[in-house]
Amino acid sequence: MVDLRGQYEKIKSAVDAGIQEVIDSTQFVKGGKVKEFEQQLAEYLGVKHVVAVGNGTDALQIALMALGLKPGDEVITPTFTFIATAEVVALLGLTPVVVDVDYDTMCVTAEAIERAITPRTKAIVPVHLFGQNADMEGILSVAKKHNLYVVEDACQSMGSRYTFSDGRVAASGTMGDIGCTSFFPSKNLGCYGDGGALFTDDDELAQRIRVIANHGMEVRYHHDMVGVNSRLDSIQAAVLLAKLPHLDEYIEARQRAAEYYNKAFEGDARFLIPKVGRGTTHAYHQYTLRCVGVDRDALREQLAAKGVPAMIYYPIPLHQQKAYQDPRYKAGNFPMAEQLAKEVLSLPMHTELDLEQLEYIVGSL
Ligand SMILES: *Cc1c(COP(=O)(O)O)cnc(C)c1O
Repeated sequence: MVDLRGQYEKIKSAVDAGIQEVIDSTQFVKGGKVKEFEQQLAEYLGVKHVVAVGNGTDALQIALMALGLKPGDEVITPTFTFIATAEVVALLGLTPVVVDVDYDTMCVTAEAIERAITPRTKAIVPVHLFGQNADMEGILSVAKKHNLYVVEDACQSMGSRYTFSDGRVAASGTMGDIGCTSFFPSKNLGCYGDGGALFTDDDELAQRIRVIANHGMEVRYHHDMVGVNSRLDSIQAAVLLAKLPHLDEYIEARQRAAEYYNKAFEGDARFLIPKVGRGTTHAYHQYTLRCVGVDRDALREQLAAKGVPAMIYYPIPLHQQKAYQDPRYKAGNFPMAEQLAKEVLSLPMHTELDLEQLEYIVGSL
């Protein structure tokens, strides 16, 4: 699905030198590289604060903690997403309220969110699924109307942009109160282990985020709130510093591959190409087709036999997961998510796909 080795070969000298510098400095935790990376990423995104943490799931958890949400508070999130989005809500004793997604963009809609709002709703966690931004103009306006926090799950959308109707352009993850991302190796901007970050323009929230990520400690061994231990290590920061200057090229390479797939499947009634929503660019963390009238699982096996990997993101919506069973939700409640779970098929998508590989993948399909 990805070719991290091919990508590494091209930036090997910068990555190796950065890692060696960390080893020579022995500042493995909270070294200067982490601060440098936070500053460079903040500049790239056009956001005031970036706080690097241990992974994207931690980023989501710390975001909800920083907002001071209390057990029983409801957090709205799409049912068609990676589990982490709802997991942290449940872990904090908050109540996940799931909603359906749009069939074409596969992202959560402002309308579905608004219908799910109750007097207990405190926050919305839109997921910019597969690399394109959800309808942030609509979602932010619903949030404003009902006085709700917005925490963007931008774990898959790093490097994509959103243009508001007034012409303002924002980087994914910088539009809500807090944005969260992941640097898992296969993500758009991936390190060589685990990593994540939170983004915010709010000075006070940024300070709370830093304190929570560091055991709730501002002054050493004085713990003013309950926190966690979550940090990006310096070696990962060195890798990310070497990769960040290439992020835009990486996104363009993904977009070129997506363009090739789109041309190949355009108009094919069996394989519906992903639709890009209004106002957003698509960073194509995943290139995901919807297979209609095709035995998707048999197709996937046949592809595997030809050496073409294909993955199903995600086979079971949150409301149908065992751990998230809830008497409020029944099969059929979220028809788009349930249909997508049966139809989606993600093709290989990464920065190193060449024409020969793309031809082979499309030909095999
Ligand atoms: C990857 C991902 C996460 C979690 O990130 P980790 O770094 O693996 O913890 C959360 N949400 C979404 C949508 C993701 O794709």
